Amino acid sequence: MSSKSTTVVTDTPANLTWSNSFSRLGEAFYSRVAPTPYQSGPEWVHFNPAAAAMLGLDDLPSTTLLSWLSGRSLPEGAAPLAMLYAGHQFGHYVPQLGDGRAIMLGEVLNPAGQRWEIQLKGSGVTPYSRDGDGRAVLRSTIREYLCSEAMHGLGIPTTRALAMIRSEDEVYREQIEPGAMLTRLAPSHVRFGSFEVFFYRSELEAIRTLADYVISHHYPELLASDAAKANPYLALLSEVTVRTARLIAQWQAVGFAHGVMNSDNMSILGITLDYGPFGFMEAYQPGYICNHSDYSGRYAFDQQPQIGLFNLSCLAQALLPLLHDSPDEAVVQAKAVLDEYQGLFIREYAALMRAKLGLLTSQDEDQALLSDLLDLMQANQVDYTILFRRLGGFVPGDKNTALRDLFLDREGFDHWAARYAARLAQEHSNDTERCARMHGVNPKYILRNYMAELAIRKAQDERDYSLVDDLFRLLQQPFAEQPEFERFAGHPPEWAGQISVSCSS
Ligand code: AMP
Ligand code: MG
Repeated sequence: MSSKSTTVVTDTPANLTWSNSFSRLGEAFYSRVAPTPYQSGPEWVHFNPAAAAMLGLDDLPSTTLLSWLSGRSLPEGAAPLAMLYAGHQFGHYVPQLGDGRAIMLGEVLNPAGQRWEIQLKGSGVTPYSRDGDGRAVLRSTIREYLCSEAMHGLGIPTTRALAMIRSEDEVYREQIEPGAMLTRLAPSHVRFGSFEVFFYRSELEAIRTLADYVISHHYPELLASDAAKANPYLALLSEVTVRTARLIAQWQAVGFAHGVMNSDNMSILGITLDYGPFGFMEAYQPGYICNHSDYSGRYAFDQQPQIGLFNLSCLAQALLPLLHDSPDEAVVQAKAVLDEYQGLFIREYAALMRAKLGLLTSQDEDQALLSDLLDLMQANQVDYTILFRRLGGFVPGDKNTALRDLFLDREGFDHWAARYAARLAQEHSNDTERCARMHGVNPKYILRNYMAELAIRKAQDERDYSLVDDLFRLLQQPFAEQPEFERFAGHPPEWAGQISVSCSS
């Protein structure tokens, strides 16, 4: 623990009920370490009242809250720790990672009895920091804050963001940047890599303890079925497989690329975790690589579904010793679960894409209808979000100029539009109802890189957080029209192509 670590304990803000279950697992699973505050500041960049209400937190952004969300003091009841994990990074096993710059203050139970871990990201070095400084820069903090709340607005499972503060302290990356801290929330931050670390160390009892903990605290419903009672660990693997397939299908449907799908960034709850060099696809390009340090394109957009399976196989391997006394039988069981993944993913994705097309029924030809549209979009570099939003206004038999003009190959579009019109006629689709349905699943607003960049520049250069707040409010309702924000519904400006995001944050 650093000598600068905070030890002051203040009263806990009203209504927070601490229940630190993870910390009771024992020190094999984490290191106790308190946050190290920045020397200067802090000041608020943003506070999320909806997330505060979710915790049952009555306080508005008070000085006490600022003090503990910046690591200056600890609320009474907190038991700060950094979690241990390992993981496969870009395909290679790294034996010890762990929270190198995040510290969990503890868990609170909200009035509905839901558990939320409160984590400060950028809160200083921990025993897992290796050569890192334990800090997060304002730029990446704004990106994670806005994107996690945008994903929530889109209905995609994700960690949440409660608050963001900044300091005057400088943090050294490719350039000097202002330091910041994010308050992140999740029912659990346990990752696939949290299990892998014990598998590779041959610590079987630790794998079992962690699996029992995850099941009893986060999947209690699993224990209800007879199959799960017989083999709860297989049931856990199966449920995580289902959730991961569903999550990645949602990413694909909305055009989200995570950027660093290492197994240590995969949540055991199937929620989006660890926002770094993510990106929302603009011009449709299946091989889209959002992370500029991903030279081989391992985590390209269209690779995400199969990387999901790779990561699940890392998790399955770590759970093998729990599945069956016979190693061979354990492998057979794990494989049977993993074999379900592709079908699960395809069914989820197909259902989401059918909804994006406004189709109520399922026909054999739908897959070709979709893939031909995507091919046409790729050839014509059509913006993914704008296309699907405008498709809601499609009128069979009409010229559909707003849509048609998105394509250079207008004839190609006309040809596809005739097939689409015929398909809609087949199910007697009502234009008005279909449009309302489609606008409910095809967002008008996503967090484009240039939007985050504008908010970051204003925050960094002018200490003006109004655009952070505008985007925060906008992205809470990505399906609503919000005419005051119409400027963010169009194509990205030309300079957006020069923005480069990588892992260094
Ligand atoms: P990520 O690529 O952000 O998922 O991080 C991979 C690992 O590096 C995790 O163990 C992080 O905690 C750690 N890490 C990333 N950035 C830093 C930093 N600035 N200081 C210390 N550890 C870091
Ligand atoms: Mg990570």
